[in-house]
Amino acid sequence: MLVGAEPHTEWLCDVVELDERGFILTGRDIPQSAWPESRAPLPFETSVPGVFAAGDVRYGSVKRVAGAVGEGSVTVGSVHRYLQV
Ligand SMILES: Cc1cc2nc3c(=O)[nH]c(=O)nc-3n(C[C@H](O)[C@H](O)[C@H](O)COP(=O)(O)OP(=O)(O)OC[C@H]3O[C@@H](n4cnc5c(N)ncnc54)[C@H](O)[C@@H]3O)c2cc1C
Repeated sequence: MLVGAEPHTEWLCDVVELDERGFILTGRDIPQSAWPESRAPLPFETSVPGVFAAGDVRYGSVKRVAGAVGEGSVTVGSVHRYLQV
């Protein structure tokens, strides 16, 4: 096992959509059946509208410090867009 490779999101499994390994699905990776809104999910938005995920715990993230920081920065923009809706 690689240290730091497990997402430890068991507690989230009934809350947001996860992949089979426990990583959080966001944006276009959320299955249509799990998305409750008529609009498309924003970048880094989870299957719960207005809840966002960034960094290693997110499915599809690059698992690097700079990637996590960048995703967090972009997520701020998504939060602003969500609050304007
Ligand atoms: C051994 C190792 C070496 C690495 N080397 C490099 C490298 O050289 N270069 C590089 O770019 N990246 C490296 N990485 C990857 C880098 O550490 C991660 O990509 C980065 O830390 C991800 O940041 P994050 O904020 O998404 O997650 P994390 O840094 O893991 O932060 C998540 C935080 O959430 C906390 N947390 C977890 N669950 C809960 C909860 N239920 N409630 C509250 N808090 C919670 C955790 O304690 C942790 O503090 C390495 C990783 C490991 C494991």
